[in-house]
Amino acid sequence: MTTRTSASPVDVLIVGGGIGGLSAAFALAREGLRVRVLERADEFGEVGAGLQIAPNCTRILHDYGLLDEAKDLGVLPGSMVMRDAVDGGELTRLDLADLEREYGFPYMVIHRSDLHGIFLRACRRTGVDLITGARVSGYENTATGARVLLADGRADEARVVIAADGLHSVARGLLADDEPVSSSYVAYRAAIPIEQAGREVDLGEVSVHVGPRCHFVCYGLRGGEMLNQVAVFQSPKALAGEADWGTPDELDDAFAATCPDVQAGIPLMWRDRWWRMFDRDPIMTWVDGNIALLGDAAHPPLQYMAQGAVMAIEDGWVLAKHVAARRAANGPADWQGALAAYEAVRPEHCRRVLTTARAWGELWHLDGVARLQRNALLRARDTYDYSFIDWIYGPTALTPEEEPPMFAPIPLDSADVRDPAGRSDPSPMPAGHRPGA
Ligand SMILES: Cc1cc2nc3c(=O)[nH]c(=O)nc-3n(C[C@H](O)[C@H](O)[C@H](O)COP(=O)(O)OP(=O)(O)OC[C@H]3O[C@@H](n4cnc5c(N)ncnc54)[C@H](O)[C@@H]3O)c2cc1C
Repeated sequence: MTTRTSASPVDVLIVGGGIGGLSAAFALAREGLRVRVLERADEFGEVGAGLQIAPNCTRILHDYGLLDEAKDLGVLPGSMVMRDAVDGGELTRLDLADLEREYGFPYMVIHRSDLHGIFLRACRRTGVDLITGARVSGYENTATGARVLLADGRADEARVVIAADGLHSVARGLLADDEPVSSSYVAYRAAIPIEQAGREVDLGEVSVHVGPRCHFVCYGLRGGEMLNQVAVFQSPKALAGEADWGTPDELDDAFAATCPDVQAGIPLMWRDRWWRMFDRDPIMTWVDGNIALLGDAAHPPLQYMAQGAVMAIEDGWVLAKHVAARRAANGPADWQGALAAYEAVRPEHCRRVLTTARAWGELWHLDGVARLQRNALLRARDTYDYSFIDWIYGPTALTPEEEPPMFAPIPLDSADVRDPAGRSDPSPMPAGHRPGA
C-alpha cells in the first residue's frame, strides 16, 4: 500500500517551497483553502543574497498585509542609477521616491531569506501544512483531482496540484518538451557586512554598471547593514563548449577593463559558488487537467528585468483571486474555471517579460559603436518618463483585457553616433529597447 505524506486531506498540493510556492500557498490558504506544500529539501530556505522587488510586487504584499513587515526588513532606496561599466559615466536613473508616487507602492530591495521567511511565517499563521524532505518525481490526473508520486515511494493527492518546482521542473514535462536554455552568462553574488565593503558605497541607490559582455549590480540590504553585489559576465569557456565554465579566473578576466568602482567590488564576490544563467523559451500552456505550473517552473527568466520572483508572486495572487471569485462561502471552488482564468492571463504577461529580459540583457552587454548608441539613447531618456515600465509596474492584470500594452522599442540606430573610425554601425545588433530596471 502507498504511504501518504499526511493523513489529513487538503484542497491544494503545492510542490516546491521557494518564494513562488510559499507565496501561492499563503494566497490560497488566506482564502480558506486547505493547502499543503511539499519541499524536497530538508529545510525551507533561500540563497543568502538580495532581491529587488518592484511596485507590482509590493502592491501584492500590501494586499496580503505583509508590506510593513517587508519594509522593516528591506531597504527603500532613493534611486536606481545605470552607469557605463567602462568609463563609469551615468546613463540614466529612476527617482524611486517619485516612482512610488507614480505607482502607489515602493521599489524595495530585500534579503531573499527575509522575503522567503515572511511567506513562511504567513503560511504557518494560516495553517498551511509544510512538509520537507518530499521530492516529487511524478504527477498524474485522477477522476477527482491530481496525484503526486514521491521519490521515496509515498504519494499524495488533492483537488489541484500546483507545481512551483523551479527551473528544472518535473511537472513542466507534462506540458512541454523543452530544456533550459543556456545564456553562456554566469552570476557571482556577495552579501557581506557593510564594514567589509572597503570603499564608500551610496546605499541610497541601486547601482547597475553595464559593460561589454558583463554587468555589476550593487545595493544595500537590512537597513544598510549589508552590501549586496551581483557580478555577471559571459563565459568564454561556455562559448567554447567547455563543461567547466564560469570559474573564478573567468570572473577576474571579464571585469579587467571596467572602471575603478566596479573593480573595487570584484574581489569581494563569493568565489566558492556561482550561478550559470539559464532561462526557457516561453510556453503558453501551463495547465494540464488539475495540474498547473507556477513561478520559474512556468517562466524562468534571465534576471535582467528583476521580475522572476515578482512574477512568481503575481502568479499566486492571480490564481487565488480567481479561485475566490469562483467559490461560495467555504464551499467547493470551480477549479476548472479558476485555472482557465489563470492560464488566460499569466502566460502572455510572462512571455513579454521573458523576451524583454533577453533583449534587455543584449542591450546591457553591447560593445563597440552599438554600446555608444545605447549610451546615447539612455542618456536622452527623461528621468520621469515611465512609459517603458508602465506595463510591468502597474497593477497586475487579472484578465487579458487588463494587461497593458507593451512599450514601443526604440531602434538602436536612431542614435546619431559614429565610431572613431567613421563607420556608422559596424556591429550586428538587435533592435534597441527603452531602458527598464
Ligand atoms: C542572479 C539572480 C538574480 C535575480 N534577481 C532577481 C530580482 O532582483 N528580482 C526578482 O524578482 N527575481 C530575481 N531573480 C529570479 C528569482 O530568483 C527566481 O525567479 C525565483 O526565485 C523563482 O522562484 P520559484 O519559487 O518559482 O522557484 P525556486 O526558487 O527555484 O524554488 C523551487 C523550489 O522547489 C523545490 N523543488 C524543486 N524540485 C522539487 C521536487 N521535485 N519536489 C519537491 N520540491 C522541489 C526547490 O528545492 C525549491 O525550494 C534572480 C535570479 C538570479 C539567478
